[in-house]
Amino acid sequence: MKESLLQNPVFGMAARQFDQVADFMELEEEIRERCKWPKRLITVSLPVRMDDGRTEVYLAHRVQHHLSRGPVKGGLRYHPNVDLGEVAALAMWMNWKCALMRLPYGGAKGGINCDPRAMSPREKEGVTRRFAAEILPFIGKEVDIMAPDMGTDEQTMAWIVDVYSANTGHLVPGIVTGKPVELQGSEGRREATGYGVAFLAMRALDKLGCAIEGASAIIQGFGNVGYHAAERLACSGVMVKGISDITGAIWNDNGIDVAKLGEHVRATGGVSGFDEAEGIDPDEMLLQPCEILVPAALERVITGENAPKLNCRVLAEAANGPTTPEADAVISERGDIFLLPDILCNAGGVTVSYFEWVQNLSRFHWSEQEVFTKLETMLERAFERMLNFAGEQQVSHRMAALCLGVREVAEVKKKRGLFP
Ligand code: NAD
Repeated sequence: MKESLLQNPVFGMAARQFDQVADFMELEEEIRERCKWPKRLITVSLPVRMDDGRTEVYLAHRVQHHLSRGPVKGGLRYHPNVDLGEVAALAMWMNWKCALMRLPYGGAKGGINCDPRAMSPREKEGVTRRFAAEILPFIGKEVDIMAPDMGTDEQTMAWIVDVYSANTGHLVPGIVTGKPVELQGSEGRREATGYGVAFLAMRALDKLGCAIEGASAIIQGFGNVGYHAAERLACSGVMVKGISDITGAIWNDNGIDVAKLGEHVRATGGVSGFDEAEGIDPDEMLLQPCEILVPAALERVITGENAPKLNCRVLAEAANGPTTPEADAVISERGDIFLLPDILCNAGGVTVSYFEWVQNLSRFHWSEQEVFTKLETMLERAFERMLNFAGEQQVSHRMAALCLGVREVAEVKKKRGLFP
């Protein structure tokens, strides 16, 4: 199992990053092994009746990386590329992210290998309900709490609450986060990841002594994270000049009207064809000059090939794992790009998910103002911790963020000792 996980390119990348961190921290062999490998890998098959009467069987995975610091927490992704290795890598990154943010969680991730764009709402509901039913013995508000990720949303979470609650006989809102506010979701959760990305990107510009007003940004991916990051940046005076999604890329030198583009996407399903911008090659878009570049879609899009040609001051990793180790080496060597590593940059989502869970457990509802104020405080603290560590140890921002996360986990494992 270890070998087949390592052969997966995304897990291989997460494992290589971990090895570098463990070497740097001189982690003892025993702790290193216990930190590196996932505690539970769960795969279930989901037979689902499709609209045309056929039965399709989907494969779904949930990986719980470790449970030493509390319940596990992580998103649920619907995408045709989902496989166990990718899900395990994302669970490992979640782990370091929760620890870096000092949230009382281990990391997890889930994914269903399906194409949500090709499914009707009824079929998506069928897949989700079947998954919730199959995974039920392995989750719980003190065990494993899911949230939306690529291809899933508040409605997906609402169906999971419904299946889980129907089985327990009472409403259990704390079983997932990222729910609709009407179903005890948190104010601000929908915007939280993008809000955090924009907040940190602007803090990075501040540190570089660059003005925010009039700075430019390019965003790959215009889903939950990309949209809210774009909106927040635009509200703060940043010109969002380039945006791409699965349908193509668009460009406007004077800045794209993000709200109008949002309406266009809702009406047509993608950014392509927006009449207030020109089309641009999606790969070329990433290389255009800008202050802030935000990959907010897939893994491994900043590569050894395009990293030398990037023209940004801040690389804000909204997606998980968007930068390959080869690209990382190029960025470190160049030294002219302020990297906001994924486990910090997109941590706004899990932080407000934590707030949502706390509100659910205490049957309380916080205002949006309260949520964003607390979020900014927690992001600022983690940002400063990362910068201080990087400065003191003379390491990259990614190495600093990962070391801080791994250190929290390693310490807890040491203190708890080995059972039996
Ligand atoms: P989403 O499904 O809402 O949106 C994904 C976007 O990426 C869509 O606009 C889609 O068209 C675009 N996309 C897909 N393939 C593309 C390609 N080849 N080129 C350009 N664009 C492409 O997903 P999301 O929730 O916004 O998540 C985006 C990323 O952020 C993922 O890596 C996810 O793991 C990460 N993330 C999400 C959250 C969250 O709260 N939703 C939290 C942390 C990290």
